Amino acid sequence: MTAQFKLLIDGELVDGVSTFDVVNPATEEAFAQCPKADEALLNRAVAAAKAAFPAWAAKSFDERAGYINRLADALESRVDEFARLLTSEQGKPLDQAAYEIMGSVFVLRAFANMRVAEKTLRDENGNTVIEHRTPLGVCASITPWNFPVVLLMNKLGPCLIAGNTMVAKPAPTTPLTTLLFGELAQGILPAGVLNVVCDQNELGPLITGHPDIAKVAFTGSTGTGKKVMASAAEGVKRVTLELGGNDAAIVLDDVPAALAAQKVYNGAMTNAGQICVAVKRAFVPEAMYDEFCDEIAKLASAAVVDDGAKQGSTIGPVQNRMQYEKVKSLLEDAKARGTIVAGGELPDRPGYFIPPTIVRDLDDDAPLVKEEQFGPVLPVLKYKDIEEVIARANASEYGLGGTVWGKDLARAMEVAKQIDTGTVWVNQHLAIDPNIPFRGAKQSGIGGELGEAGLNEYTQAHIVNAVSLETA
Ligand code: NAD
Repeated sequence: MTAQFKLLIDGELVDGVSTFDVVNPATEEAFAQCPKADEALLNRAVAAAKAAFPAWAAKSFDERAGYINRLADALESRVDEFARLLTSEQGKPLDQAAYEIMGSVFVLRAFANMRVAEKTLRDENGNTVIEHRTPLGVCASITPWNFPVVLLMNKLGPCLIAGNTMVAKPAPTTPLTTLLFGELAQGILPAGVLNVVCDQNELGPLITGHPDIAKVAFTGSTGTGKKVMASAAEGVKRVTLELGGNDAAIVLDDVPAALAAQKVYNGAMTNAGQICVAVKRAFVPEAMYDEFCDEIAKLASAAVVDDGAKQGSTIGPVQNRMQYEKVKSLLEDAKARGTIVAGGELPDRPGYFIPPTIVRDLDDDAPLVKEEQFGPVLPVLKYKDIEEVIARANASEYGLGGTVWGKDLARAMEVAKQIDTGTVWVNQHLAIDPNIPFRGAKQSGIGGELGEAGLNEYTQAHIVNAVSLETA
């Protein structure tokens, strides 16, 4: 690939101060150069977003929706190009990459349809109280490497429709699809409404501490999220933090083992396990445990682990070397503590490939169970009764998502209600919808994205409380 990637600042596609390699995780070879911004370029991007804000905020919702829909149409018309680039930098199989791009189109269109509504809170005895919402100004998007495109759209859609402008910073290992989106947006949005800068992990603190940035929308690890929150405290900046998770899948005893295994496998291994709400711990009743482990092992053994660009590949590599080393060390530790029933051996080839691995007979205090693995290695744990499994599922500092599988829907929903996370799906998984709020409990986040609640996080609630002069 010889494409030249540029930053987007004030409507111009510009070079960085230097470039750095972007590595294809399936080959470990650099296939493109990413332009790198320094503090001066970041400041130019923020200044451009600040200058563009008044005119953008003054447009009507319908006008802004028109721009967002044009972004969606342009992205849809280039889905193959974006998907190929996404597979090259991120590693996921091409069909999953195309799915992420189409999901991004869907998210943009959903936000183009949303409106920030004015609410009358009281209208009685001459007292009128109105809550209306105003945009915040310049918002920053800081995104991770697992879903670089759709996680940006979850922020850009509400940011723009509410009347804000944006500076977006992708993760250093997956910057190219964001840059390509910047190039696409250059031809559509007024100058400065969206700016894209890239770094090798240096810009984060400068963004979170920047006096002209009103809000930071961050998706990433809990460790970095804590730094974002601390840094944003100085200016009492708005933050939304979408952080890590250690989601439990709870299989109830009225589900056929083979069906449960299929569902849990998909939830754990899609995107090579690199999903914030992937199944990271599977809890299975004692009586079904052996059969479930056999069934899920069959699925893992049948996976085609290969370069995502190759047809037929079902699991691509882990996205970067650091994550590969982390998952590898959790796997080595789990080998010593539990029983590997599928996978476990790393192929002798270039690329950060880890075959889908199923580990049984682990204790809850094993690192693979306690920590967020964020990779294709799943512990399957045995439980005796419902109260016990709920307590064990909740025994985590994380509280992002989770799933409950059960034929008796009322019982499954009753269990779901007791799981201490932001979202619990029952008999489905990854049903993320731009119209439904998504947020983490405990150390999985603050605030949230999507839905009306997510849109409102890009606004300031403003109360006008009036009485007539006669009443005063
Ligand atoms: P990360 O925290 O290492 O990096 C995320 C982003 O933060 C990157 O763009 C990085 O450059 C930037 N960054 C680094 N240092 C910073 C600082 N001091 N201040 C501000 N920004 C800084 O996360 P990652 O490894 O790229 O992503 C994986 C993690 O993301 C996992 O924990 C996963 O669960 C989480 N995640 C959460 C959600 C969610 O919606 N809750 C979604 C996807 C991923």
